[in-house]
Amino acid sequence: MKADIHPNYVPARVSCACGNTFVTRATVPEIRVDICSNCHPFFTGRQKIVDTERRVERFRQRYERYEKQEKARKESSAATRR
Ligand SMILES: [Zn+2]
Repeated sequence: MKADIHPNYVPARVSCACGNTFVTRATVPEIRVDICSNCHPFFTGRQKIVDTERRVERFRQRYERYEKQEKARKESSAATRR
């Protein structure tokens, strides 16, 4: 190895949002991740939505509003038919 050009390669503790931690090696001593092999759907076989940007929640809110409008429209058209 050439001297003085390589970054320091140290043991690194990786902590996941699910609570799992493990040690690997990296150029930084601590790594925080949102998902790891312990909680990723590929390994667990269960579905999990990682909604860090609240996109799923926003979609649900929008869809909820649409459903309410649809319901109200159906009720009002049923009322006018009578
Ligand atoms: Zn995890």
